[in-house]
Amino acid sequence: MNSMTAKRQITLTIVYNNVAYDTNLTTQWGMSCFIQGTEKSVLFDTGSDGPILLKNMELRGIKPQNIDIVFLSHIHWDHTGGLNDLLKEHNDVEIFLPLSSPDELTSSIAEQGARFTCITKSMEICRNVHSTGEMEGMGIKEHALIIDTKDGLIVITGCAHPGVVAIAAKARELFGKEIILLFGGFHLTGMSDQEIRHIIMELQEIGVKMVGPSHCTGERAAELFKVAWKDNFTNLSLGARFELEIT
Ligand SMILES: [Zn+2]
Ligand SMILES: [Zn+2]
Repeated sequence: MNSMTAKRQITLTIVYNNVAYDTNLTTQWGMSCFIQGTEKSVLFDTGSDGPILLKNMELRGIKPQNIDIVFLSHIHWDHTGGLNDLLKEHNDVEIFLPLSSPDELTSSIAEQGARFTCITKSMEICRNVHSTGEMEGMGIKEHALIIDTKDGLIVITGCAHPGVVAIAAKARELFGKEIILLFGGFHLTGMSDQEIRHIIMELQEIGVKMVGPSHCTGERAAELFKVAWKDNFTNLSLGARFELEIT
């Protein structure tokens, strides 16, 4: 290892998911991931239920007060359901959410004393952590989170309603870098093997090195991703903790 190169560690902990990895945590439909090692710590989505989110966080040693930023990928209940209970415990956070979010949500956030920023175009939310900007996705707008490193990009998707390929392509286009890890919900249930294989091919062409499909990806799609990425397939289901050494 070159001692001149400063390495730092990004830790990803999956605290809410309908796909189990560690069965000590409560499995429930939805998605939430806690990100540490970035300038500010980020909770990506909040799952569907507050008490379950808070309990799973506790089992992973994460206190609500550890969270600086809450990133809401899109306004579906299985990604926003834990927010209210989280804010009751800790409202000193900045919430980043799509501009298209309903007024009831932003007014309830304001009532609870948290700060929020509505996102439409791609923007940096803290050093090297970005939103793709709102993307159109079958009746709902969604944005994905990008962590920019010298080694490449880490891209996290909620449900990937705009299409997982469109999201990966947008990240690549914004930064002109390969994607070292793409994970989250890929929304591929009900697709034929042929359609899934086509998506896999497109993601490999974009330069996706590691994948961690979960949440709404679908079991069959996850199997095919595993075959395609082999050792570069990571299991980022409920309770998984993943550490990346990056430059
Ligand atoms: Zn959704
Ligand atoms: Zn979802």
